[in-house]
Amino acid sequence: MAQQEDVFKKLVAHCKEYGFVFPSSEIYDGLGAVYDYGQNGVELKNNIKKYWWDSMVLLHENVVGIDAAIFMHPTTWKASGHVDAFNDPLIDNKDSKKRYRADVLIEDLLAKYDDKIEKEVEKAAKRFGESFDAALYRQTNPRVQEHQAKRDEIHARFVKALNDSDLAELKQIIVDYEVVCPISGTKNWTDVRQFNLMFSTEMGSTADGAMKIYLRPETAQGIFVNYLNVQKTGRMKIPFGIAQIGKAFRNEIVARQFIFRMREFEQMEMQFFVRPGTEMEWFKKWKETRLKWHKALGLGDHKYRFHDHDKLAHYANAATDIEFEMPFGFKEVEGIHSRTDFDLSSHEKYSGKSIKYFDPELNESYTPYVIETSIGVDRTFLSIMAASYTEEQLENGESRVVLKLPAVLAPIKLAVMPLVKKDGLPEKAREIMNSLKFDFKCQYDEKDSIGKRYRRQDAIGTPFCVTVDHDSLTDNTVTIRYRDTMQQERVPVEKLHEIIAQKVSMKELFKKIVE
Ligand code: ATP
Repeated sequence: MAQQEDVFKKLVAHCKEYGFVFPSSEIYDGLGAVYDYGQNGVELKNNIKKYWWDSMVLLHENVVGIDAAIFMHPTTWKASGHVDAFNDPLIDNKDSKKRYRADVLIEDLLAKYDDKIEKEVEKAAKRFGESFDAALYRQTNPRVQEHQAKRDEIHARFVKALNDSDLAELKQIIVDYEVVCPISGTKNWTDVRQFNLMFSTEMGSTADGAMKIYLRPETAQGIFVNYLNVQKTGRMKIPFGIAQIGKAFRNEIVARQFIFRMREFEQMEMQFFVRPGTEMEWFKKWKETRLKWHKALGLGDHKYRFHDHDKLAHYANAATDIEFEMPFGFKEVEGIHSRTDFDLSSHEKYSGKSIKYFDPELNESYTPYVIETSIGVDRTFLSIMAASYTEEQLENGESRVVLKLPAVLAPIKLAVMPLVKKDGLPEKAREIMNSLKFDFKCQYDEKDSIGKRYRRQDAIGTPFCVTVDHDSLTDNTVTIRYRDTMQQERVPVEKLHEIIAQKVSMKELFKKIVE
């Protein structure tokens, strides 16, 4: 674990050093849980967004996009339930004065029991070798059973407390299982309280006329309030979906994990409207499609898993998360929820406008049910950076830090480098770059030794480096160096476009999603 934390620290430092992510307003010492994306970060982020957007609106003829405003009529948030129920249970440690989410402390406690069980199983696997039957061991080993029983007991109490919104019981679990504050190491806890996560501000200039409005805590409501507009103007037939990418804001209680939990972040959400009664079928389908989207990136299939919710939100009848193995454990990057007709019905009630769909096949009107896929851009960014960050020991005794980003997402697709800064090589390099820059984000670099230049590109994940030398002037060939293998190949200049295009095209990823 300590080693993993170390890797995470290095990753955060790397993000800053190489222009991916900076603390917000850093010259004023930053602002809690708010971050800015730098010159490389913004390219990676835009590529992630394009990958998601096109996977929705290109691959599905019945999914269209919108871009709704961040400010919405305040009644929206009354109707959605956020004013009354968008709360987290918080608890303070009186000694360290640190604030925690009570539910997260208990989830961490459960994860500790899972870890203990896994360690027992791993130890036994080593001891017994090939003949080891892990499933049998889990069922029969007394120590594993003891941990499992404890875990089940805590889990049952936790689920019940969440469902009953029983804050006293949440605290009692923390007390009974002697959860300590990681900072002070003490068990000196306050009571658990509810805390609303929405930011508010005022719209309008006069004190009398000013209206309290909220910064949206999710982008989904912008889709629901536009459901009729899009359905009518786009002549959409159920089933169909509306996709949106945009900023969301939450006054998170605990925000100590870099861009994993931010107060201003970005979501990519798609609401898929279906006939009531068919929602479970669509829920299953979107779960599969979304997992394929993640896996197509090639970061390692074993790094993903589904996690079904212990407590369903007030609007949902099924919900699961796609979790990714971050340096600090498996964590949610995407939520897939079956939201029933909760949102549309509620907006219908609060607005007094009919939000029904006339289904010509059934010859009847109904309020559509909704399947939502909701993924955080920033968490996806973090998962990709974490999986790509590699420290390598090279054969010649040197080491390198390389970001093995999926080539399609890399901020810079290729670097063009003249071997030396004279003899017409810079001009030739510029000429090559000028012919490729319409299709690929290129970077020109002529400073320092070629080795140093390669390292700089490795550190930002550039998949190709093209080196121009004296032979290039006569035979019109260059050396292309591949980031991950460091192999070099001599190729004619006119082949460059084809080689690069094939590796950085999203088409190959999309094919994996639809197959
Ligand atoms: P968590 O339980 O971690 O707070 P959530 O279940 O509240 O997350 P959702 O409301 O389902 O999250 O939001 C959908 C997605 O938006 C999440 O899967 C995540 O990727 C992203 N997201 C939510 N909150 C944040 C945040 N504070 N910072 C960054 N991304 C976030």
